[in-house]
Formats: sequence, C-alpha cells, structure tokens
Amino acid sequence: MSFTLSHTAQNLQPSGIRKFFDLASGMEGVISLGVGEPDFVTAWQVREACIRSLEEGYTAYTANAGLPVLRRETAKYLQRRFDITYNPDTQVLITVGASQALDVALRTIINPGDEVIIIEPSFVSYAPLVVLAGGVPVPISTKPENDFKLQPEELEAALTIRTKAMILCSPNNPTGTVLSKEEQERIAAVVKRYNLIVLSDEIYAELVYDEPYTSFAAIEGMYEHTILISGFSKGFAMTGWRLGIIAAPEFFLAPMLKIHQYTLMCAPTMSQFAAVEALRSGERDVKEMKKSYRQRRNFITKSFNEMGLSCHIPGGAFYAFPSITATGLSSEQFAEQLLLEEKVAVVPGSVFGESGEGFIRCSYATSMEQLIEAMNRIARFVQKKDKTQRA
Ligand code: PMP
Repeated sequence: MSFTLSHTAQNLQPSGIRKFFDLASGMEGVISLGVGEPDFVTAWQVREACIRSLEEGYTAYTANAGLPVLRRETAKYLQRRFDITYNPDTQVLITVGASQALDVALRTIINPGDEVIIIEPSFVSYAPLVVLAGGVPVPISTKPENDFKLQPEELEAALTIRTKAMILCSPNNPTGTVLSKEEQERIAAVVKRYNLIVLSDEIYAELVYDEPYTSFAAIEGMYEHTILISGFSKGFAMTGWRLGIIAAPEFFLAPMLKIHQYTLMCAPTMSQFAAVEALRSGERDVKEMKKSYRQRRNFITKSFNEMGLSCHIPGGAFYAFPSITATGLSSEQFAEQLLLEEKVAVVPGSVFGESGEGFIRCSYATSMEQLIEAMNRIARFVQKKDKTQRA
C-alpha cells in the first residue's frame, strides 16, 4: 500500500541519539553514558501520593490547565526558588513534560516562516519542534572558548526582520553551561531592543552546582518577554511521570491553553497528584540528588582532563562535554568505535549541531561504580587511539 504522507513528517530526520541506543541495546555489558535522565527513583512520598490519589478514586480528567492545587503549589515554588510571581489561575499551565510545553509554546507564537534562534550545541528537539510549528530554526554556534555561552553580539548578528523568538537553555543540554545573571542581562538588552520572545527552558534549574541560579524571567524587563518552561523530569527525578510547567504572562498563556485543551486535554491526573507532593516535600530529596551529581561531575571532568580530553567544568545539568579532537577522530567515529571496542555508549557532539563536532556528551547520571569503570575503559581507548595515531 502506498499513501502520500505529509512532507513535514517525511522530511524530519530521526534523532542522532537513537542510532547509538539501537546499536548499544543489541550488545551485552555496555555502560551507557548516553541517556539524559536521572538514575534515581522518584522519592517514595511522591510515589505514595500518586498511589493515594488512585486509592481515593481520582481517575478523571483535571482542569485543562492542571489541578488548581498543583498550579498554586507551582506558583509558590517559582516564587520561593526563583523570586518570580505568577498568578496560578491565569499564568500557569501544567503540561505533558517540558517536551509538550515547548511544542505548545512554539505553536502559539509562530506564523509560517517566522525564525526562531536556537543556540547550538542544543537539545535535539528544538529545531524539529520549530519546523513542526511552521517556523524556521536559525542556529547560532557558540564557541568552546566562551564555555559555549551565547555572546550578545552573536545573537544580534543572527537577527533578521523575521526573527520572532529565541530558545534559551540554561543549564544547557548537552554542554551543562550555566549563564550567570550578568550574562543573561547582556542577552536581555538585545531581546529588549529587538522585541524578541524568549522560550526559557529551565528544566535543569534545580541542578546548578556552583553559583546561585537566576531564572531568565527574573531578569529586569524580561518577565513580559519570557515563556518559562520547566518540569519535574530532571530535578525531581520524574521523567516517566510526564509532567512539565509553563509560566508566562496571560497574553501568552491564554492562547496556549486553547491549543493544549484540544491536543492534550490535561496532563495525567495521577502524575499531577504526585507532583503536588514533590513541590511540598521534595526539596530535601532534590538537595541530596544534587550533592551526588556534583560529586560525580567533579570525578568525571577530572578523569577526562587527566586522560587528555579537555573538559570544561559544567555548572549544571548532568552532562560532561569533553573535547575529543586530540584523538584525531570525528565525534561520530569516536562514539561508534568506543562502543564497539570498549562497550561504553556516549553521544557524538555532532547530533547537537555543527559546533558540537569535536565533542562527546556523557551523562554522569549513573552510579559511581559504573562511572569509574567507564572512565577506565575510555582512558584505555584514548591511549590505544593515541598509539595508532603516532604509529
Ligand atoms: N528540555 C531539555 C533541555 C531536555 O534535556 C529535556 C529532556 N532531555 C527536555 C526539555 C524534555 O523533558 P521532559 O521529560 O520534561 O519532556
């Protein structure tokens, strides 16, 4: 049988990360530093809150925007943690993960041909989601010598009359880079001058290790420009619950709610009950997990630098992004050969955009024991390549 499918669907490329998962899943004894998700199980009291809601029979839809109590807790959380005020009734939307939050936000703001700035290396979903919304992704390549931080002049140079928005991600996936308040203020000046909308993906905001975190919406003058996207997957170790957050001025939120109610109706009810508990009592667990990630980050970056793969110290998230140029291999060759020869799965930097070439992404959200073994294997691999190069 043959049917004509949409050009959009036909032209979408499968994610470059998938290929390595498929290859690794057919092999035994692989240590995976590939997946971007916490290795912790969601805190017990959060799971218990979900179980209780089921026992009490809460199995129906919630309000389209999410349970009122969850929106209230979310607004309180954003106030407490990031000092930003949102009205829970009109400015907060509970979504199916940050993934749907990005999708609904882009669909709300983009007209055909509108350009959206994407700062590379970037999360693999941004460009396809822009395309699905009818927009044109415009990549900006950040530089390793700037720790992959967007420079205001790079942003300004990429703008055209069709630029509508920018997706900002701090802490960043895949580089772990965190923008300071001052760095965000300098970007904000350009945003203000050219009247851009900023989708601020703050999904890793709870995992910032060395400095206080500033939300982009809290930068002076940016509240009205910002659609804040967050969620429970990373900081609260709740990837499977599929819950995200949008907080934004009503001007953006009301139309987003229309799209959300037709496409999703509401986020899963039992997950929403769990999330209420996560926001009420999860802070201690988040702190513990963060402490553990920080130790692992320190270990993995030190190991990479010692084996001659230069690695900047990522300020947040749970990814190390070492340079592999010393091996003379492309990032794809490195990842493929490492997997086949030493059974360690990493992600080639090239899947995150052109400027990711020459790097690999390694998630350190895996046990210390596995990390030590993975680092031994990578060191052996690098030494072997070094010898081959010199021969
Ligand atoms: N944004 C970034 C930067 C991410 O890394 C991820 C998950 N890998 C998401 C959004 C999507 O998260 P969620 O599970 O909330 O859909």
